[in-house]
Amino acid sequence: MVTAILWTGLLIAALGYFGWQLWGRFSVLLKARRDDGRKYDSKTLVPRLKQTLIYAFGQKKFFRDDQPAGVMHIIIFWGFVTLLFQVITMFGRGWDPEFRIPLFGVNALGGPYGFAKDIFEVAVWVAVSIGLFRWAVVRPTRLFGFLPAEKRLSEHSHWEAYLILIFISAIMASGLFYDAGRMAAYAATNPEIAAEMHWQPVSAALSRLFASNPELGLTISNLSWWVHNLVILCFLNLLPRSKHFHIITAIPNVFFGKVEPKGRLAKRDFTVENPLFGRSTPDQFTAKQVLDMYSCTECGRCSTNCPATATGKPLAPRQFLVDLRNTIYANQTKLAMAKTGTDGAAGEVTFEPVVAEDKPISDEVVWSCLECRACEEACPVNIEYVDKIVDIRQHLVQEASRFPAELNRAFKGMETQSNPWGISSAERTTWADGFDVPTLMEKPDAEYLYYVGCGGSFDSNNRKATQSFVRILKEAGVSFAILGQSETCNGDSARRLGNEYLYQTLAEQLSNTLKENNVKKILVNCPHCFNTLKNEYPDFGGDWEVTHAAALVGKLINDGKVKIDTKKSFDKKVVYHDSCYYGRFNDIYDEPRNLINQVPGAQLGEMERCKEKGMCCGAGGGRMWMEEKADQRVNLLRTDQALESKPDVIATSCPYCRIMIGSGINEKGLADKVGVMDVMEIVAASIAESKEPTQPKISP
Ligand code: SF4
Ligand code: SF4
Repeated sequence: MVTAILWTGLLIAALGYFGWQLWGRFSVLLKARRDDGRKYDSKTLVPRLKQTLIYAFGQKKFFRDDQPAGVMHIIIFWGFVTLLFQVITMFGRGWDPEFRIPLFGVNALGGPYGFAKDIFEVAVWVAVSIGLFRWAVVRPTRLFGFLPAEKRLSEHSHWEAYLILIFISAIMASGLFYDAGRMAAYAATNPEIAAEMHWQPVSAALSRLFASNPELGLTISNLSWWVHNLVILCFLNLLPRSKHFHIITAIPNVFFGKVEPKGRLAKRDFTVENPLFGRSTPDQFTAKQVLDMYSCTECGRCSTNCPATATGKPLAPRQFLVDLRNTIYANQTKLAMAKTGTDGAAGEVTFEPVVAEDKPISDEVVWSCLECRACEEACPVNIEYVDKIVDIRQHLVQEASRFPAELNRAFKGMETQSNPWGISSAERTTWADGFDVPTLMEKPDAEYLYYVGCGGSFDSNNRKATQSFVRILKEAGVSFAILGQSETCNGDSARRLGNEYLYQTLAEQLSNTLKENNVKKILVNCPHCFNTLKNEYPDFGGDWEVTHAAALVGKLINDGKVKIDTKKSFDKKVVYHDSCYYGRFNDIYDEPRNLINQVPGAQLGEMERCKEKGMCCGAGGGRMWMEEKADQRVNLLRTDQALESKPDVIATSCPYCRIMIGSGINEKGLADKVGVMDVMEIVAASIAESKEPTQPKISP
């Protein structure tokens, strides 16, 4: 009776405090903005359930980096899921020592469940002990921080990590000893408990410790019951105050994750009554962005994969997210009490910006990001970074007018010459001189429009890639045309740099040109053009099929329309560098590799960081147009990674990658030894010549 009263009081107090804490966090989510441009309707239900099954319950990303730690997490996750029934049983026994969940009698589900419970209690205990050893002795960088700034993180989470691991360990051990003591005390007189001994081998084995002293067994069992339940209640109340809040928020976070194309940024609506030009204060982040912040497990997989962190920039994505989360927590009461505006904004309450030179998130942190998505790909709970970085950049560019000075040139170039180099727009078609390429005006019935893009038009090395692709198209007799002087910049760089207004201006202009010309099929040889035309232009009424060069050329070869000349042996070791926008943003990994493999003599190797784990060349997120003030530059690091496989040629399929890796090779003085070529150039070098060439030969 005393136990029941005491237990009831404690339970009410603990659950009440837990509910109050949870409500504080939850009320911020309720008040947060919803303008993330995404759909949360019944049509997205199936993909949402699918991603929840794969990533939350299947724990897919835990098999990616640091597998031993991943396996430990999977054991702990499934252990907790399984042991929920044990927790309910133990709670119920506070009022009735014989309590069992309906159908969980030992002769029904309870028997097999008891077996699973015993095994998981041991497995989780072992996993947690290894976890404690890693924290105390191994101390991996992934957990302890990468940058001087990130050391702050490890300081605050040290005690928390130890405490949580000790808590879990205590829950597992007390669960086993509760059953063991109970068996020792009652198995002789209670047939159900005796039957439990057949199903629960570990508890039964432990019960032998008390075989000669059943009284001691009973005392240990009662003590274990209190330890188990009190630790669970403390654990529950620690969750909302710690990184272990992810136990509650991670599954919803995965469920509400992006189901739109990964490379699609939301179109900012400048016309609504209460326009938002960027996000900088805690009240401006969307509910999903706040849920991301709540869900971080601080595992550090994002920072491990981040090229900015790897080259000593002040950005470490985990720290960036934790700093954002701390700002939300610090403003929680204000956020929850703020009068919600029509669009979810916090009405009259004012908040300080999260990014400023005197704040943990400085401007430089935000400008260091390459928007390469390596962090998102690695994150086990699918936290998104690129949208937050772009939102904050929009604030810096469009509201605060604070951005690196060199971007003035790129913005002006796009505004006046419709290319970020600022080269005279009259030079856009110089690459086509002597190539006899029709424009859409000359050939309005062309099947494809080849949208060349700024990189392929203005950069001298990339012009060779453009010419090679055109040569292949012509050899195959593909019906295509270009826009010629009507082609304009698609604005991708402006958007990634936070200049959404400029992006929308350019996107309106180009999409109108495409619509006026009744374009239905577009060819590109640039991942940035591919991504924005395919995934983002539908917001501007774009209704066309976008095909990338490697996909079409692969088909042309398979269909026999392009013949590979087996006598033209390439005879070189090639390593392919994945661009982020074909790769992680659009899952295009195989087609360029398949093409290289079809070239006679080409021996394709791989870098350690390739495909999903590939590393940005240093130009992503508009960094192409920024100076890199650092001891270590991203393009040099990536070039070193490529050189490790001792290639003769580094193959690329992005104009920016070609420039960045090419500059890395030049700086290392290896231009005579290692070539940098677009995949189209490699293919063009091995195709059979038609009898009467229709275009000049391209010098290598
Ligand atoms: S997008 Fe790339 S550069 Fe930016 S934080 Fe993520 S990993 Fe780092
Ligand atoms: S954002 Fe994801 S990958 Fe990074 S620390 Fe948090 S949970 Fe880990």
